[in-house]
Amino acid sequence: MLKVNGIDVFYGNVQALFNISIEVNNKEIVSIIGANGAGKSTLMKTIMGINKPANGSIEYDEEVISSFKTHKIVGKGIVYVPEGREIFPQMSVLENLEMGAFSKKYTKDDIDRHIQEAYELFPRLKEREKQIAGTLSGGEQQMLAISRGMMSDPKLIMFDEPSLGLAPVIIEEMFDAIVKINKRNDTPVVIVEQNAFMAMSISTRTYVLEVGQIVNKGHSQELLSSPEIKKAYLGG
Ligand code: ATP
Repeated sequence: MLKVNGIDVFYGNVQALFNISIEVNNKEIVSIIGANGAGKSTLMKTIMGINKPANGSIEYDEEVISSFKTHKIVGKGIVYVPEGREIFPQMSVLENLEMGAFSKKYTKDDIDRHIQEAYELFPRLKEREKQIAGTLSGGEQQMLAISRGMMSDPKLIMFDEPSLGLAPVIIEEMFDAIVKINKRNDTPVVIVEQNAFMAMSISTRTYVLEVGQIVNKGHSQELLSSPEIKKAYLGG
């Protein structure tokens, strides 16, 4: 479904990604793990057309999209929930959700149905429907960012560090929701994470990114028991 073919990405003269290839198939959850600065966000932003690869290509549904502008990529049904959440802090929870449907030609009923689905996924958002989003807790803001991303019926959804800055119990809730999202319409999911254990626990396959290069890849369950991965990413 999504194929990244040997991309190189630069910021000025500095190369951030080296010959990166990844694939995401229908129905899969794929995780991309790596430390700070490994290039995870750069990879996401390149898939979204925010950065352009100097070499290589990106294909989605058998079409080369790497020259497309971001809005066109979004129009193809790829949704990116960025690191740091980026909700509209001055707007209410409900208004943020409505903004997520902005690019779609939905009827009022379609919008209401999507909002109800968001509230089923995260009942806490319903309780806080009228609250100004900037005053939500970090976990609630992440719930809102995820739900806003779901408002447009993504065909592929990519989450950038959904666990960042959250307490363990909230992290579990977030990952449970990601599994439900994947199951709901068999929506393929990409999770980019420093929290390697959680991301690998819910994903089918994993890529390990280190200083801009894929240094390991495979089935998540196998990688979880690999001594090398345990030592480097799972605290021994
Ligand atoms: P983090 O989890 O800290 O966000 P990351 O794995 O997402 O890390 P990136 O943000 O993709 O890593 O950064 C990869 C490299 O590219 C880093 O060395 C970073 O300093 C550099 N970089 C990222 N954005 C820019 C930019 N806009 N201009 C210049 N260099 C950048």
